[in-house]
Amino acid sequence: MHVIEHLDRADRTLFSFEIIPPPRGKTVRDIIDIVEQIAPVKPPFIDVTSHMAEAVYEELDDGSIKRRIRKKRPGTISICGIIQNRYGIETVPHLLCAGFTREETEDAIIELNYLGIENVLAIRGDQSNYKKIMRDGRTRNIYAKDLVEQLVDLREAKFLDDIANSEAINFCVGVGGYPEKHQESPNIKTDLKYLKEKVDAGADYIVTQMFFDNSVFMDYVRRCRDAGISVPIIPGLKPIESVRQLSSLPKNFNISMPEDLVDEIMESPDHVKEIGKRWTAKQLVGLMNSGTECIHFYVMNNASTTVEIIKEAG
Ligand code: FAD
Repeated sequence: MHVIEHLDRADRTLFSFEIIPPPRGKTVRDIIDIVEQIAPVKPPFIDVTSHMAEAVYEELDDGSIKRRIRKKRPGTISICGIIQNRYGIETVPHLLCAGFTREETEDAIIELNYLGIENVLAIRGDQSNYKKIMRDGRTRNIYAKDLVEQLVDLREAKFLDDIANSEAINFCVGVGGYPEKHQESPNIKTDLKYLKEKVDAGADYIVTQMFFDNSVFMDYVRRCRDAGISVPIIPGLKPIESVRQLSSLPKNFNISMPEDLVDEIMESPDHVKEIGKRWTAKQLVGLMNSGTECIHFYVMNNASTTVEIIKEAG
């Protein structure tokens, strides 16, 4: 079922989750453990992130440098297949522009379709030290909007090659949104302009970057509506679990932390997990009370705190 159908039919606030494939060399059991923790909360869908390859440099004995191209966390498609087919929970694989040709993306979409997956999140991906070489005849998506357009073409059975009597692949398409603007956007107005382009291209819903102040999200929704963006906007939450995240999250995700939250953690760093949990619980209740249809949790590879928060919130 499409994510937007879940949202349409919801008679209570839904909780969705975002998980990350295990690093190369680990087993899929790690993911299964997380899904088993999440499953009792009855998520309408679970997102699985995708990761582009990186260049890894290794100094050899003779002093020369060997360059290898490695994807640290492969397996997005197969993890989605396992979750969806073993647990009956809808999955939303993230599809990236960066590091993939449009031809590879089309193949991935075909595989997802064969697995019975009907939803994807179309994401540009971050800059990496590896740039895929574009050989003759290959093309690529630059911005998420280009990827949305590719997915929308497939809804009309338009494959990259003209294929006679081809059948449509109808994915529900989500895109990312940034309540505090994306780090490369010069200002909020420009950020919204590009977000609207993604929606006008055919995106069905938006999932936001994490935020720690609900008023930031409420303002964002208001600005989106004023800009003519009418699709559902799903807020993203993440509980703080370490003091280090006070600097790493703002740095990596261009988000800010409310003074009260930072002060409380700085005063009692040993209780950071409890403070973070309480803070997210407060955000959760605030969003539920304001009628939010679905709340998305960035659990990545540790769902226990989030599941406790949801259970305690009833
Ligand atoms: P876009 O919407 O393409 O925007 C990127 C930047 O370009 C923005 O600053 C935008 O304003 C600007 N822009 C857009 N269109 C144009 C244009 N036509 N001309 C000039 N500028 C333009 N990363 C991963 O690697 N893997 C993941 O699985 C993943 N999942 C994510 C999930 C969510 C919900 C979110 C919010 C982010 C996720 N990311 C993930 C991070 C994401 O890859 C980065 O934030 C990335 O830098 C931007 O992706 P985007 O899809 O928002 O890009």
